Amino acid sequence: MSSEHLLEVLNPATEEVVAAVAGASPADVDAAVTHAARAQRIWAALPPADRARLLRRFAATVDEHLEELARLEVREAGHTIGNARWEAGNVRDLLDYAAGGVERLTGRQIPVPGGLDVTILEPLGVVGVIAPWNFPMPIAAWGTAPALAAGNAVLLKPAETTPLTALRLAELALEAGLPEHLFQVLPGHGAITGDALVRHPGVAKIVFTGSTRTGRRVAALGAEQVKPVTLELGGKSPNIVFADADLKAAVDPFSFLDNSGQDCCARTRILVQETVYDEVRERLAETLAAVVVGDPADEKTQMGPLISRQQLDRVRGFVPEDAPALRGSAPEGPGFWFPPTVLTGERPDSAAACEEIFGPVAVLLPFTDEADAIRLANDTPYGLSGSIWTRDVGRALRVSQAVRAGNLSVNSHASVRYWTPFGGYKQSGVGRELGPEALAAFTETKNVFISTEGPAQ
Ligand code: NAD
Repeated sequence: MSSEHLLEVLNPATEEVVAAVAGASPADVDAAVTHAARAQRIWAALPPADRARLLRRFAATVDEHLEELARLEVREAGHTIGNARWEAGNVRDLLDYAAGGVERLTGRQIPVPGGLDVTILEPLGVVGVIAPWNFPMPIAAWGTAPALAAGNAVLLKPAETTPLTALRLAELALEAGLPEHLFQVLPGHGAITGDALVRHPGVAKIVFTGSTRTGRRVAALGAEQVKPVTLELGGKSPNIVFADADLKAAVDPFSFLDNSGQDCCARTRILVQETVYDEVRERLAETLAAVVVGDPADEKTQMGPLISRQQLDRVRGFVPEDAPALRGSAPEGPGFWFPPTVLTGERPDSAAACEEIFGPVAVLLPFTDEADAIRLANDTPYGLSGSIWTRDVGRALRVSQAVRAGNLSVNSHASVRYWTPFGGYKQSGVGRELGPEALAAFTETKNVFISTEGPAQ
């Protein structure tokens, strides 16, 4: 690989350089596509049971290296060790789940007069997966595992700041016995490596996870070749708390602090019925003060640093020092630290209440009744996730139906499970990942009609 551009990987908790990684040039991308296309033909020709077995072995190899992968994630992304272990485990689980789908990926026979009509699901070929830095391992696997299972080759472009776990996963794939070049990692800048991947005519589909701004650009580039692009984009998810809710569970600060708030599903708009607003405010003040922020490698730490100086500056820009807020504490530098924060004096149309901050910052907003809660919840260009807290089943259902978002949870803050579909409404994305249909999203459906009439006499 050429070293035309170098990526410096920093430990966000210390600002120490962890590694320097060569970025892939457009020529590198081109060579990778050629090799991947060859490997894909070999892979797709294997009996499904053999492909499934190799994917399961890949999952087992990830499991054997789980602690190593988790520690690497702590160093390059600043995730708490507990979260990082979950992330590596998620890769293993996704590979296992996808392996279970290989032999179940079947077409259909459709009744048509005069013959037999069948649909055949064919792999797309070479798939490009572009991942963000906030969950480097799981999100890489969301695209990679089902794409491989459906018989494709994968070229993964990790984010600039977090290439290390991706590179290690590619080594583990080889160790597990996957064909050479079937799964390749292309680190590099988005504007160079990512752009070359999206533009390459040999790449049949792009799965992009990242910001809405970059997603628009990737979709436009893909459109030039009528290339399918799945987009998993930003969010500004509501946490709707009615007065009858279990308030302790409903205002769990980790619903927006998990991963230092660098979570597309973070419930960063806490919408609270006005009659319990003061109680919720007090609870939040107490719980924020108790959050343990510090060394992410320490088992007791609950929240680590932000990913980069750039992200820290962005978050600071939304939170003026004198803004009315509830605040926890955070270490001084070095490292990219920001305290858990809930802004209490925002208008629903302020920048902090409307834009994705991607840091440990939420806004607390009151609502009057159910209609007001729904109006506020939907008053955003995003539609990724959200929680609804109430003991009234009818209301829970009405609000779930009325909120325009792809993933809602009632009396829970859960968002992503690898066996249920995930994706956004509105500017949070296009298409779905995960769940039972994940493999089919990496196939073309071919319809074949076989006449039983015989040749014309
Ligand atoms: P980003 O858009 O800056 O970058 C995402 C990826 O795109 C990176 O790998 C980057 O190098 C690449 N890229 C940048 N420019 C490109 C270009 N011109 N062509 C091709 N690729 C290019 O996003 P980020 O800051 O890394 O991630 C944070 C964002 O991701 C947040 O907005 C978050 O909400 C979103 N996200 C969404 C989901 C979801 O499932 N909906 C999940 C996680 C993160």
